[in-house]
Amino acid sequence: MKVFHGRASGTPSEQRGGTFTGTVWADPVMPATDGVTINTVFFAPGARTFWHAHEHGQILHVTAGQGWICAHGGQPQPIRQGDVVWIAPNERHWHGGSAASYMVHIAISIGTTHWQEAVSEHDYAQAGAAASAHRAVG
Ligand code: MN
Repeated sequence: MKVFHGRASGTPSEQRGGTFTGTVWADPVMPATDGVTINTVFFAPGARTFWHAHEHGQILHVTAGQGWICAHGGQPQPIRQGDVVWIAPNERHWHGGSAASYMVHIAISIGTTHWQEAVSEHDYAQAGAAASAHRAVG
């Protein structure tokens, strides 16, 4: 067992680039341990991950705002505060804020994360189109 004490006040958050589009901040909840990485991640509106997959899966717990989760070959699904997502091992996907809202989630990532290419504006726009269609249906 290890006890990880809370972040010292004044410790700067890390702004992530390279594997994210837009403004994304991430703070470790605890240091990566035994292949498990836990981060609190803030996505500004429109910001999202690149396409990627987690070797042994990932759990997302949305703690604020609203955004999108999208599996390869599927439609983007809206997620919001309180939602929990299980992403299966090696399932290609992306997640991020909506066009109009930030999103904050706790991400529990198991094993190595395999980063791929950026989510295109076209693919990201599918999320907005899905939202419009959903509203039209009522
Ligand atoms: Mn992920």
